[in-house]
Amino acid sequence: MPSEFDLIRRFFTRPVRHAVLGVGDDAALIRPTPGTELAVSTDMLVAGRHFFHDADPCLLGHKALAVNLSDMAAMGAAPRWATLSLALPEVDEDWLRAFSLGFFDIARRYGVDLIGGDTTRGPLNICVQIMGEVSAGQALRRSGARPGDEIWVSGHLGDAALALAHLQRRIALSPPEAASCLPALHAPHPRVTLGEALVGLAHSAIDISDGLLADLSHILDASGVAADLAYPALPMSAALRARLDDEAARSCLLAGGDDYELCFTAPASRHEQVRDISRRLDLPLTPIGIVREGAGLRLLDGNGREMPIGARGFDHFSENGREATPRPPRPLAGEG
Ligand code: ADP
Ligand code: MG
Repeated sequence: MPSEFDLIRRFFTRPVRHAVLGVGDDAALIRPTPGTELAVSTDMLVAGRHFFHDADPCLLGHKALAVNLSDMAAMGAAPRWATLSLALPEVDEDWLRAFSLGFFDIARRYGVDLIGGDTTRGPLNICVQIMGEVSAGQALRRSGARPGDEIWVSGHLGDAALALAHLQRRIALSPPEAASCLPALHAPHPRVTLGEALVGLAHSAIDISDGLLADLSHILDASGVAADLAYPALPMSAALRARLDDEAARSCLLAGGDDYELCFTAPASRHEQVRDISRRLDLPLTPIGIVREGAGLRLLDGNGREMPIGARGFDHFSENGREATPRPPRPLAGEG
């Protein structure tokens, strides 16, 4: 039986690039770049709530860091350091090897050093803390949206929720459709490069982890503004588009969790610069609405008519987000 220290050495100790001292001492040492602020965030993944108990450990390693990288992206910060706290029900070396492969693969791609953590026995639980750097005063906050800003979203929305609905047999996707949606759920791409490119350009940003309506509402609340969203403009995959007359699919688009795309606002005068970033990064960026004075969010159909969002507001939707075993979605209010 390997000791805890053996496991840490074999599976979680790698050379560090940005740290003064990594894994192995009582604490790691980091030296932030002068003129930067540290962006610090943590996200926990709990078995049975955020993932299935038998989930592929390599994909879990990827996702545990990816969801944290997404928070750095939303702040416009360059990710640098992470810590990893693991509760494991048993020592399963195959599981640890695969998890560590997935974790270090994405860590290397985004230039993140694993500099410490904690390992203990307990119900499977994965907690990552991430730290990144952003030029002082330049971070993208939720509170910066202003009337007249355009609202943009990266990539397309709803595939992760659609894949989850498929796994839970609430929606039946064809094998090619499932194959096109499942990566969004299992291996999200954090939009780190986009976040960094938006510094100095976007007024506000958030990553979409709980669904577009819920997360955009956080921007609106924090900024003290309102928004009009154009439903027909929302970017979605072919698989989702094919099912839009299905209530559950519509809820995936508006309220599905786990997309990890960025939603941001930028002055309309910067429209072409945002388009340039989209071309440079080869990443679709879609204008989906406009920030107004006031409070609240209106969803408009192709004729400019307001669509019902739900008497209970966005919480109604976000219950479906981020959970491995969510309740079946309820219909959009006014329709069922
Ligand atoms: P301490 O008793 O001082 O908390 P630990 O025995 O918990 O030390 O950890 C020893 C070293 O291994 C520390 O540097 C700690 O940060 C690191 N470490 C422990 N678990 C992990 C992990 N899962 N991933 C990365 N580093 C870890
Ligand atoms: Mg410890």
